[in-house]
Amino acid sequence: MFLLVAAAFIPARIYVANTDKFPHPERILVVAAVLFLIGLFWSTLLTWCGLDRMASLASAIALVGLLGTTGGLSEETSTTIAVAVTVAGATTVALLASRFGTSFARFLVRAATVFFLLSLTVSWVLDSARPEVNSSVEASHSTLPETLTSRPDIYLVLLDGFPGARAMSEIYEADLTNSGSMQLTEAWASYPMTIASVASVLEMGYPLGDGDVVGGRTADDLARIMSGENRLLDFLASQGYRTHQVESGYSSSFCSTSVDVCVESQFLDEGIFGILDQTVIRRELRERMGSAFTQSGLHAMRWLGANLPGLTHDTTPDFVFASVAIPHPPLLLDRDCSVDYEFWRVGNSVFAGEQIIEERRAAYMEQVQCVAAMELELSQLVPDTSILIFFSDHGGDSSGQMSRYEHDWTSTDVLERMNAHLAVQAPAACLDSNEVFLSEMMRDVLWCLSGDEPDLSREDSQIFTASRIRDSSSYRLRILSGAEMEALSIPSVSR
Ligand SMILES: [Zn+2]
Repeated sequence: MFLLVAAAFIPARIYVANTDKFPHPERILVVAAVLFLIGLFWSTLLTWCGLDRMASLASAIALVGLLGTTGGLSEETSTTIAVAVTVAGATTVALLASRFGTSFARFLVRAATVFFLLSLTVSWVLDSARPEVNSSVEASHSTLPETLTSRPDIYLVLLDGFPGARAMSEIYEADLTNSGSMQLTEAWASYPMTIASVASVLEMGYPLGDGDVVGGRTADDLARIMSGENRLLDFLASQGYRTHQVESGYSSSFCSTSVDVCVESQFLDEGIFGILDQTVIRRELRERMGSAFTQSGLHAMRWLGANLPGLTHDTTPDFVFASVAIPHPPLLLDRDCSVDYEFWRVGNSVFAGEQIIEERRAAYMEQVQCVAAMELELSQLVPDTSILIFFSDHGGDSSGQMSRYEHDWTSTDVLERMNAHLAVQAPAACLDSNEVFLSEMMRDVLWCLSGDEPDLSREDSQIFTASRIRDSSSYRLRILSGAEMEALSIPSVSR
């Protein structure tokens, strides 16, 4: 019982402080069970060696506690050294406990258990007391056609954080024009952060407006849209499509109940990787796996490669929305998609201080090349009777525009973050305009498949920048003025 509390404490502590990071909380049980079994094995071993049972239990609790908290040491030295220190610590506790007798050992066990339970309660209280700022999420709705006359399979693949071609050439001096049979189109994201941008693509409108906040309950609403409760999926389901959702391992990417087929992320999703990253195996884990997003991204692309050709050949129309969490940082993949771990490559932003910006940008471009090669390979597996769309929700942030508290984005900041990758393979030229706003992209595709003249009572196309809100993880949006859009030669509608 005491050992169970200790084994559950390590993952529970992280879960309690980040409940929204765990789309699959049941996976935590596996981690807790493994820790419990290690502790049980250790205490049985010590008892078998002749140690008092209470002293063995105290030592096992120390072992489990140390296993779960020596991530930093593992990172600084190596996994082997961290394991050695952990075993030495547990052995020391065993020796002390047996030296001072059973009642001392019992005291240690009880003190540890009280500490675990108290600190869990404190984390839980602190987390629930955190203030939330919210906006209401309601997409302005563009008009959709009545019905589709053509129903090809539609594969919509989100490549998270893949910069647009113009940003790549003007900011990164990189060139990725080899898109095979796909058409590269200049595209603009409407929101600079993933959940809002993807929600706008799937709602085919603008779920948030000027001054609105992205965070707290608003973020939960956007995540639900991203996960299948959206207009695009509803419309396609009403047209006889079988709907598939491929999770990315990012906590806001999960399958809602409205999805017919769910492809779960691999086991090491954002939450589980976050737990294991605190443990003794951190160094080994990072060197082999990179990050949750690295592995989940590769997993999602492999799933698409293995399954899209089969979906293409059956008679049911399929809609697949796949979230792929790369090439978004951390920057742990080289151009051949092998993990290349160094500490400076970690972090969720391209920007990580002026001193290493050149290295970070180069590493970002390597990861982009890895994803571009996978994209090209996948496009060759899908016949052009299906619609295959690779889009990104936003670009990079190498001048730190996503970390600022002020809305002081320059034209270059906007270009880098909002110019987004879009590569399309479609039977007819359903997306033949020179420039596309991602929020309107799928509506245009649906009109194209309806064979009707589109209802062009378009709303004004919008782009928002963001600034962080102090003492919270939320952002506030600001709409770009017509003049700011003109300065970037973005086709703005008069406002
Ligand atoms: Zn993103």
